Amino acid sequence: MKSGNVRQVHCPTCQTMVVWTHSNKYRPFCSARCKLIDLGDWATEKRIIAGEPVYPDVGEDSKNVL
Ligand SMILES: [Zn+2]
Repeated sequence: MKSGNVRQVHCPTCQTMVVWTHSNKYRPFCSARCKLIDLGDWATEKRIIAGEPVYPDVGEDSKNVL
């Protein structure tokens, strides 16, 4: 086994260099806090609120009588 290649990644939340190891269960995040923050942002972005369909106001529009 070679131990010279230490893979490092940037934490997606705070950009801190994180060593990618099996002991780091929060990878690619640096901590549980950053992981929760990222998941929170993701959930917020995905929560698309669809607007209600707008129906034309049909009512007093029948006064075009000759
Ligand atoms: Zn972080």
